[in-house]
Amino acid sequence: MDQGLLVPDELVVDLVVDRVNQEDCKNGYVLDGFPRTIPQAEALDRALAEMGQKIDYAIDVEVPDENIVNRMSGRRACVDCGATYHIVYAPTAKEGICDKCGGELILRDDDKPETVLKRLGVYHEQTQPLIDYYTEAGVLREVDGTIDINDVFAAIVQILGE
Ligand SMILES: [Zn+2]
Repeated sequence: MDQGLLVPDELVVDLVVDRVNQEDCKNGYVLDGFPRTIPQAEALDRALAEMGQKIDYAIDVEVPDENIVNRMSGRRACVDCGATYHIVYAPTAKEGICDKCGGELILRDDDKPETVLKRLGVYHEQTQPLIDYYTEAGVLREVDGTIDINDVFAAIVQILGE
């Protein structure tokens, strides 16, 4: 993983299963951003079934692509200390200057529209099929990700309390 190489699905699922078997997960847990592909989801289902467990809910936080591109392109990072800001949601006192160290702020390659669109392409190809997968399993719930972040959180908490 440190080398940025892809990790086989079964190994990832083993790591997840080890983690959710720990004491602090005995009343439940949330997997954030995992699984990302159908093979991962199938491997996870198999591993959980062996332990007599299953996924209760899969939560789809829906945000249109254009919102994601807009949000990401507003992010700024300090070249010196790495602090991150957003020109709309978390602006600095002085435009283009880091509040913490006075360093210069840049738009990282990762946040540029062309990079974000590429990642969204991978998402639509590999991750979006999970929506059908979990719909068929009867566990999919949708949350509007364009509303205030506190309201998104509240909506997720409400689903988990069902
Ligand atoms: Zn800085």
